[in-house]
Amino acid sequence: MPLLPLHGHAALRRRFDDAIRRDALPGSLLLHGPLGVGKQRLALWLGQRLLCTGPEPRPCGSCQHCRYALAGTHPDLHWYFPRPRLKDGDASPAKIEDDFREAIGERVKTGAYPPPAPEEGIFVSTIRAIVHSAALAPALAERKVYLLGEAERMVLRDGAEEAAGAFLKLLEEPPARATIVLTSSEPGALIPTIRSRVVAIRVPPMGAADVEAVLAEPAMREAVAAAGAPGSITEQVRLAAGAPGALLGGAEWGEALARARRMLDAASSRDHREQMRTALLQGSNRARGAFSTALDALTTLLHERARSAAERGSGRAASGAARALACVEVAKEQATGNVNPQLITSELLRQLESHLA
Ligand SMILES: [Zn+2]
Repeated sequence: MPLLPLHGHAALRRRFDDAIRRDALPGSLLLHGPLGVGKQRLALWLGQRLLCTGPEPRPCGSCQHCRYALAGTHPDLHWYFPRPRLKDGDASPAKIEDDFREAIGERVKTGAYPPPAPEEGIFVSTIRAIVHSAALAPALAERKVYLLGEAERMVLRDGAEEAAGAFLKLLEEPPARATIVLTSSEPGALIPTIRSRVVAIRVPPMGAADVEAVLAEPAMREAVAAAGAPGSITEQVRLAAGAPGALLGGAEWGEALARARRMLDAASSRDHREQMRTALLQGSNRARGAFSTALDALTTLLHERARSAAERGSGRAASGAARALACVEVAKEQATGNVNPQLITSELLRQLESHLA
């Protein structure tokens, strides 16, 4: 089974295609956007586009490069993402590559895969393997593409200085004919030295028709049902709020959306006691993971709101939603630091109140 077919993100695909034609695609990119919006799938499409040698329009989908890319087996399309820590903390690049070959094989079995477990990360031995591999010539194609999904899960500390330095250098000056694409739903959690070295591109939530097309893919339908999302496709489209992959997170995403809706309601109600109660519900520092997901869900809902306001021709509501989105981004950044979720929320709700009035 190959990767899940790509739906949506047409504007970004055109933009990438245009940049490639002008030979103006930056060597290091960061695709950021809500959880489950298809950032890694889009990055894999970009990789396929870069490697394809078939007829226009590219990617052709049928040349050797396209076929390998779609099967997850192209030797020059390197895909990394959070994995369980290997027993051998100092695993060799060859062992890491074996581990990923197997993991990618799992992912492309159906093409629909859930978000990684909280304890999974991109550990230093993986970073070493990437740096090692990037120094080698392409195996089959004219160029190489590196994709690091959920790059904020990179764990670079405690004796990892050398690997971190080499990786930063790689981002800053990718080898000729290499493209490095990071994806993240929490770009605020990326270390600043990484963020400053990549060109950031926002991947927006998908339109309802594209979400429906993704959810109608048989593999996706099965995986979403297994994750416990509600049965009807209309309900699923609403719950996904532009990010169909989020439904694979199961109950966690549903909960995050419920929390985000309550935050929006509390902000719009102008009821300060309700706002306080909502803030207190966000828990203390220990609840950080769930809080970050709730902020992701809030981003998704506000994008929806901005889009529908723009469609109605309500410029004022659309720009209010855009300002609210900027506040949520700041809150996300604070959430990755040492600020208490309750404090962040109470401040955020006051800001949202004024922007969403
Ligand atoms: Zn092709």
